[in-house]
Amino acid sequence: MRRILWIIAAGAIAVALGWWVAALPGRVTLAVGSLSIETATPVAAVLGAAVVVALAVLLRLLLLLAGLGPRLRRWRLHRRRAAGDTAVTHALVALAAGEQTGARREAGRARHLLGDTPQTLLLAAEAGRLAGSDAEAAGIYRQLAARDDAAFLGLRGLFRQAIAREDWAEAAQLARKAEAVHPGAAWLREARLNLAVRIGDWPQALSLAGPGAPLAALTAAAAAAEPDPGEALRLARRAWKADNGFAPAALAYARLLRQDGKESRAQDVLRTAWQAAPHPDLAALALAGTTDRLARVKQATAFVQANPDDPESHLLLARLSLDAGLTGEARRHLERARAGGLAQRRLFLMLAELEETDRGGTEAGRAAQREALRQAAGAAPDPGWHCRHCGASQPAWQPACAACHTAGSVTWGQPGLPPRPALIAG
Ligand SMILES: [Zn+2]
Repeated sequence: MRRILWIIAAGAIAVALGWWVAALPGRVTLAVGSLSIETATPVAAVLGAAVVVALAVLLRLLLLLAGLGPRLRRWRLHRRRAAGDTAVTHALVALAAGEQTGARREAGRARHLLGDTPQTLLLAAEAGRLAGSDAEAAGIYRQLAARDDAAFLGLRGLFRQAIAREDWAEAAQLARKAEAVHPGAAWLREARLNLAVRIGDWPQALSLAGPGAPLAALTAAAAAAEPDPGEALRLARRAWKADNGFAPAALAYARLLRQDGKESRAQDVLRTAWQAAPHPDLAALALAGTTDRLARVKQATAFVQANPDDPESHLLLARLSLDAGLTGEARRHLERARAGGLAQRRLFLMLAELEETDRGGTEAGRAAQREALRQAAGAAPDPGWHCRHCGASQPAWQPACAACHTAGSVTWGQPGLPPRPALIAG
């Protein structure tokens, strides 16, 4: 209703204005040089208004034309960006799918459309790497490494390439640079730890070890690499405290204690380790200073006192008794070891040796020896060091597997059987 009233009011004003203009008296003369135009005042007023409107329309049109160029450029830029974003998506999909040609094509397209941004450079490098063109990838990684905003991406790519070609010195240098531009990155910490394990830099590996790392193995290795006897002893003690049944740590700690003149403490450490997880090397080190055979039997009996029923304890006493000529004792311990579940080759070989020593002159003894040898041939293999990750056998304990380079994976036991659970001391 109000609108209708407004329209009526406006119409009335327009009609009044028209009447007023039509009623204007007189004439208007416009003279330009020799040209002279004369017309009635109402006509001149209408023409004047028409000229003002025409000029306003013309001005608007000129402004519109002047703004058309930038708008057109913005529109083109927008289209280019949209096409570039699509190429980035296609390149990511091709990389994830392992499509070498597609990844390179789309990465190149994204780079052409969006320019050399960190994203497009990284895509191009990864596409090159996927296609097996390491030199091309390395060139682009270096471009990234030179940028302030994406140096870590470039260094990470170069580090992975150095690891792949086993260039440890280069990898270590790149890791230091990456740490400087992006300190505390979780991936880098893990990568540096793996690198330290790979090159046998045990102090470095230990300094980078986080929760869940094989602390006893890394600390024992660091102790072995430590030139300062005091620091080596401290590290060996730490390794043994981390797992007091871990034979390499107990052996390292006991050896250093012995060197330091602390024989009694060394014996305590070896005895405690034997109690937690008997290992032949522990007894060998404990008895190393005793040469008399009977004295060795006596000392070993005391040594295994905390764990007397373990088959390994009986096997140790059987060996020492046999060496001392105590064949009755040796037989008793071998039977106890066998009753305890030990049925490995070494037990039957020792039994054959016992039969030869004890009853070798009799037919019954020779028959028993043949039977023991027959059983040894079909018995379970003796325990040894092997990798619980890849299963590879190792001639001796190593901080990391020589085959798969997993730290702390070399464990003592029968191949194919699960290792004993780790005993973590408080
Ligand atoms: Zn392995």
